[in-house]
Amino acid sequence: MRTPSVLIVGAGFGGIAAAIELRAHGFRDVTIVDAAPGIGGTWLHNTYPGAACDVPSHLYSFSFAQRTDWSRLCSPQPEILAYLREVAEEYGVAELVVPDTRIVSADRPDPAGPWTVTADDGRTWTPDVLVVATGQLHRPSIPDLPGVDDFAGHAFHSARWDHDHDLTGRRVAVVGTGASAVQFVPEIAPRTGHLAVFQRTGNWFLPRRNRRFPAWWRAAIRHLPGLQSLRRRFITAYCEMLTVMIRHPRTWGLLGRLWSTLFMRSALRDPALRRRVWPDFTFGCKRILFSSRWLPALQRENVSVVTDRITEVVPEGIRTADGRVHRVDTIIWGTGFATTAFMAPMEITGPGGRSLAQEWDGGAHAYLGMTVPGFPSLFVLFGPNTNTSGGSIVRYLEHQVRYVREALQETARRGAAGLEVRAAVERAFDAEVQARFDGTAWTRCDSWYRDDAGRIVTNWPGYTGEYIERTRRVDPADYVFHQA
Ligand code: NAP
Repeated sequence: MRTPSVLIVGAGFGGIAAAIELRAHGFRDVTIVDAAPGIGGTWLHNTYPGAACDVPSHLYSFSFAQRTDWSRLCSPQPEILAYLREVAEEYGVAELVVPDTRIVSADRPDPAGPWTVTADDGRTWTPDVLVVATGQLHRPSIPDLPGVDDFAGHAFHSARWDHDHDLTGRRVAVVGTGASAVQFVPEIAPRTGHLAVFQRTGNWFLPRRNRRFPAWWRAAIRHLPGLQSLRRRFITAYCEMLTVMIRHPRTWGLLGRLWSTLFMRSALRDPALRRRVWPDFTFGCKRILFSSRWLPALQRENVSVVTDRITEVVPEGIRTADGRVHRVDTIIWGTGFATTAFMAPMEITGPGGRSLAQEWDGGAHAYLGMTVPGFPSLFVLFGPNTNTSGGSIVRYLEHQVRYVREALQETARRGAAGLEVRAAVERAFDAEVQARFDGTAWTRCDSWYRDDAGRIVTNWPGYTGEYIERTRRVDPADYVFHQA
């Protein structure tokens, strides 16, 4: 059986998982390209102080490469990056990575292939299969505010942290209060002269201290058989419980809200500040943030919370709607990522010259988040509607790459040159996914889960267990197999 050649774009958790799965099943011709200088994806780019995963490491790691030596519940970025590099070495896929390679286009005029994939320096590849593993959170987003380029101080995005820029004693503005800012603000606040946190929307918080694991715990998890897998099961159940709260905002969600309210009230003693940072949307609509350090950081003497809308950036700082200019030396954009365009600006074109951008004009969609009609032998990892608000994306990725491998094996068994999801199958799936958002907390506010038209395109609407079930086996009836 001839196995196809596969090009994977992205050397983060998704790309590495795909390469390991394919190589383990006899796919010899596998290449991974990445625009970055090496392995790591989001964990290579996000080096801001305090960067850590917010899903416990025993779950935010591959099931087949479990570790018992994580230093904390949620490991810091250097540990996660080292882990991913080690796993890639251990499984022999590190050598498949071609770094510093930014793909600009992929074109498949013939359904039977191959793809012609082009990098920005003109290099090309012609794989039978294209796996796009660029993730949802890789394009830093800086708001297009008037005067944003006129700032006379230094500005950078949290995902491109400037470690050479010393913040000691400086007047610093942080714009944004999402998962990233919540991690780096408590780290940098003590050394800044003054830190102004610009908040557009408050968030729901739950406690997390993320202290180092005590020695007894590390010994126990290393030596007690079964404790590690019990731990994974416990964290999985905990995460699924968060999804229960999000899916049922009128019942279980109220419990989550109460839990968060009690925590936030005890952490925020100042009623005026409490009013300003209190969220005005349903618990779980945006990502629930876990931190026991954020609210105390906001109450520091040298920290102020600005809730007036930003109207413009001026050379000396940030102007808000009340007319005030907040003078700062440094602006740190904690404003997140362009999430809903997925692999854009990479141009992907299928047979007949139809681009993926055209196909997704009305919002991104893909069967099981992975395959799109009109784009044979294209697989997207961590694609549309596969993000999780409660759970580990690493688990989703593992099931996705297993599915991709099976789909490719089925194609090879049939002697076909490509496979393409049937449009009706994908349409029905998409309708089902969208309908499953009805009545959930996700629909009750605006968030980065939605595209410009308001459609929720990033998140999976159900439980991790359901996604695993849906992707457990490839049904050949869902696909058209193109013969050469
Ligand atoms: P984010 O959650 O999208 O937060 C962006 C923040 O910037 C929000 O507070 C947003 O306010 C604000 N903002 C955006 N545009 C603005 C504007 N024009 N004016 C004022 N404020 C503006 O981004 P993030 O914090 O980088 O996190 C993104 C995602 O990455 C997370 O949800 C999570 O999935 C992942 N992440 C994970 C970890 C982890 O595992 N530990 C850590 C960091 C990030 P609004 O709320 O009003 O939109």
